[in-house]
Amino acid sequence: MAVTEKQVLDALATVADPDRGADIVSLGMISGIAIRDGNVAFSIEVEPHRADRLEPLRKAAAAAVDAVEGVLSVTAVLTAQAPSQARAAPARRPAAAAPQAGPRPQRGAIPGVGAIVAVASGKGGVGKSTIAANLALGLKANGLSVGVLDADIYGPSMPRMLGISGRPRSTDGKRLQPMENFGLKVMSMGFLVPEDTPMIWRGPMVMSALQQMLREVEWGALDIMVVDLPPGTGDAQLTMAQQVPLAGAVIVSTPQDIALLDARKGLNMFRRVDVPVLGIIENMSYFLCPHCGGRSEIFAHGGARREADRLGTEFLGEVPLDLAIRETSDAGRPITVSDPDNPYAAVFRTIAARVWDKVATGGALRPPPRIVIE
Ligand code: ADP
Repeated sequence: MAVTEKQVLDALATVADPDRGADIVSLGMISGIAIRDGNVAFSIEVEPHRADRLEPLRKAAAAAVDAVEGVLSVTAVLTAQAPSQARAAPARRPAAAAPQAGPRPQRGAIPGVGAIVAVASGKGGVGKSTIAANLALGLKANGLSVGVLDADIYGPSMPRMLGISGRPRSTDGKRLQPMENFGLKVMSMGFLVPEDTPMIWRGPMVMSALQQMLREVEWGALDIMVVDLPPGTGDAQLTMAQQVPLAGAVIVSTPQDIALLDARKGLNMFRRVDVPVLGIIENMSYFLCPHCGGRSEIFAHGGARREADRLGTEFLGEVPLDLAIRETSDAGRPITVSDPDNPYAAVFRTIAARVWDKVATGGALRPPPRIVIE
């Protein structure tokens, strides 16, 4: 039998807030319940000053829901909203996009910022950041104003890939100016913390860092913001999905089956929290020998296209394994900007045009409606 929102709320109503005595449902702390096929996700909203000592509460809430019959997995996150954000009118998406009735996640728009698109991968090392940087530059080359938020706070790579160093400044002592290069506005934890500082952060801290990089930065007017998510399906991804009005997510995968399995997990996570998946990009798709021009399909090319078909999402394009792509990104001058006549720069511009088209026309594929037979 399908798990219902009522069952989830009933389970959560058995959990008390340790500071206030009453249960977390009647205190109005639960938001963003999403239930898909026995996978349950929800947020517990707490005041920022309590966020980092309420991990036991989060665990207790997750355990209570986990015990409900039919529940396969539980993702519970603590979200701490600063008072000014809590007051801001949340940007609602059309009612048709809502997966469930009941409490909705607070998806506060960022003033001046048009569409926000996340670039995600199921695991690290598949070239997600390389694709994110070149996608942002492709969007810019297509005439859009573009921001890049490096949400990979454990391993930020945008400062290096976009050739930016130094520290962001603040003109009013409250909000930071984004850094800029190649006409992109960029914010990354890499600008704020020295590279060799070990980042051992717990969930609530990750979320508050992301919130600050989103909302306490003078992004100005942007057509689109590209968000480089950390690999995997953890707190950062869920926070972005729940706290930000994401227009959609792009999944980067290599063709190997194992990477595709990870991509599938990423895709399912976005669907669970009602973020449209714009499509899949296959990276390191094939290798063209620079000497003989021969094409080698090192990782069984084409897996992502088949997988996209199977999962009912779009295959956005394939990017080859290429020395110039690696050298230029690692040197802080991605190929899309440093060698715009290169055919692979054209590949990125084409992918960028497709992504923008989907975002601008609202053509993002949503998960099919769920039919529940009781
Ligand atoms: P991720 O963000 O998934 O961890 P990165 O974007 O940091 O991965 O890429 C990992 C390494 O692979 C980098 O050195 C990058 O330059 C290289 N790389 C990524 N995509 C390609 C490609 N298509 N061809 C060659 N090298 C690539």
